[in-house]
Amino acid sequence: MVSLAGVGIKEYSSFFRREKGSRLPEIACPDPGCAGALLRGHGWYERLVGWAPMAIRRLICASCKVTHAVLPEDQCAYRDATLAAVEAGVDAGPGHPTAAARAAGQLDAEAVRRVSRWTADFDAAFVQRLCGLLPPVPGTWLERVRAVVGDAAGALVRLRRWLWGTYRVFFGGPSGLWRGGRPRDAARGRSTYGGSGPRPWGGGSPFVRERGWSPRCER
Ligand SMILES: [Zn+2]
Repeated sequence: MVSLAGVGIKEYSSFFRREKGSRLPEIACPDPGCAGALLRGHGWYERLVGWAPMAIRRLICASCKVTHAVLPEDQCAYRDATLAAVEAGVDAGPGHPTAAARAAGQLDAEAVRRVSRWTADFDAAFVQRLCGLLPPVPGTWLERVRAVVGDAAGALVRLRRWLWGTYRVFFGGPSGLWRGGRPRDAARGRSTYGGSGPRPWGGGSPFVRERGWSPRCER
């Protein structure tokens, strides 16, 4: 799973064109062992974005054979929600599920339960892993994020760019963190997109923490 800075949902369909002969942008394989090998086209798949089906480009590395879906940079992995919606929901919750759903712009019958899951997910182990990568400023995990990427709207999109640029870790949203764009348990040569839902990291931190950085977020 990868995304490109500046290529969000709005820009996506003009950036990745389905017409035959369309030029593929140059995107390097994130695996350092592949020494910048360019990814090649490997088809498309459809997923829901804003309740409508959207064609997502899939690429493959000829060297390591790993496939990568290219996600709009403002879209969550495996969830039909933008990072901005998650940010608004987390700001309003947890503990206020109805307000969180409203803030996230999720107004359907299942919205409250779904947004509660987001905030519950953010209370889970992956948040602790995320906090291991953020400076130990006081406050919630989102305040730590903002201490790194700034207070303006769009903090989670900037967090995605920052984690990728700093650690080569893809921030999927509530589905967690993917080192090198890949779930931790994916064997070399396997796809990052199995269509069967997110795969957890499993035990232990995959990251080298800087000395003095707390691995925990305080509420
Ligand atoms: Zn590769």
